[in-house]
Amino acid sequence: MTKTLIKNVTAVNEGEVKIVDVLIVGERIEKIEKSITEKIENVNVINAEGLHLIPGLIDDQVHFREPGLMHKGNIHSESRAAVAGGITSFMDMPNTHPNTVTLQLLEEKYQLASKSSMANYSFFMGINKNNLDEALRINNENICGLSDDGLYFDSQDGIMANYPDYLEKVFSKSDSLIALHCEDDSIIEKNLISIESQYGKNIPAEFHAIIRNEEACFVATKRVLDIAKKHNTRFHVLHVSTEKEANLFDNNIPLHKKRITAEACIHHLWFTDKDYKTLGNHIKWNPSIKSEPNKIGLLQALKDHKLDIIATDHAPHTIAEKNGNYFESKSGGPLVQHALLVLFELYHQNKISLEQLVQNTSHNVAEIYRMKDRGYLREGYYADLVLIDLNKTWTATQQTILYKCGWSPFTDYEFKSKVVGTFVNGAHVYDKGVFQDDATGKRLLFNKER
Ligand SMILES: [Zn+2]
Repeated sequence: MTKTLIKNVTAVNEGEVKIVDVLIVGERIEKIEKSITEKIENVNVINAEGLHLIPGLIDDQVHFREPGLMHKGNIHSESRAAVAGGITSFMDMPNTHPNTVTLQLLEEKYQLASKSSMANYSFFMGINKNNLDEALRINNENICGLSDDGLYFDSQDGIMANYPDYLEKVFSKSDSLIALHCEDDSIIEKNLISIESQYGKNIPAEFHAIIRNEEACFVATKRVLDIAKKHNTRFHVLHVSTEKEANLFDNNIPLHKKRITAEACIHHLWFTDKDYKTLGNHIKWNPSIKSEPNKIGLLQALKDHKLDIIATDHAPHTIAEKNGNYFESKSGGPLVQHALLVLFELYHQNKISLEQLVQNTSHNVAEIYRMKDRGYLREGYYADLVLIDLNKTWTATQQTILYKCGWSPFTDYEFKSKVVGTFVNGAHVYDKGVFQDDATGKRLLFNKER
């Protein structure tokens, strides 16, 4: 069994920041102490003085594009970028081709990941108009939940949040966690017709925030929340993008008792509608990037425990697919490699503390999904760890981009912090730019009770 001793590291965990030694034996954390001085045979010692150690990020919303869309990305390429960015576990969405809407297709994805994923993995079972009976049969102990993210409800006919009768059925019957994308199709359609009548096909990028506006998000989120509350469903709202939606969530119950949870995504915490001027459709996401007060409101809602976690919604497209006019440019962009570093930028701007950052990206995700033995720096837990230099300035040049799609909205951005190393199940899979490419993560496991 490999043994690694990380010495004199500043650990951020469970609301505390303190200097410790951490001993990893095999896949797990063996010991965390102020100072480990005993003699240990065959141990790799890392002197981490001046570096920070956090539990690896658990990203509950990625689109790694395998199978079927591998010109955009694949499980290996994107999980490799993820570990370089400090993400040690991910949950992938069902809008691959074919859509992951049967148990067999779902298991096939797990098979693919078992051979090529550098991070730990789980895959959402897709839910649409036609597969409710099958979706209700997922095993909550080894599948993270149900999601419609990126799927149409019925062929090209809108998304599930717009079908309350069907939501009633799903929410009353499922005992799984259900994670949905909430935007109102009819409001978006009405806005689009109005803007298109003024601009034709060449709608300027900033109008994305007006077409997919605050109201479209609020109306849909409120509608779905009310149905979830009625049935006491275990419901998780993906990528909340407005302050008004964030204020719909309770912060007066402890997380482990919440039946309804919600997340903010990196891009909504960083960009605002002013950035469309320079980045154009490269920051076209659904839900859209909106005004500055929304960004500030989301950060405040995380602080106030109205929102619980931070995810990426990493959704690579080729640069050709992002270019072109408003109608041609696909929504989504790659984020896993720089997500943690963006949060450290917010830390350097005094907008988030290190303790809260870890809470939102790791502890709370583990709690929401009832994950087994992950999400904390604790003895006996899996050694999913990230070593960070908080004060190491570097520029994300084109050559450093690891995504299969080869671009990033952060190309040429100068970050103040750097990921130094990443451990997944005790394996040092990323070490100062060097990858252990044959390393594979594990299937995530969960406690049954949701
Ligand atoms: Zn979505």
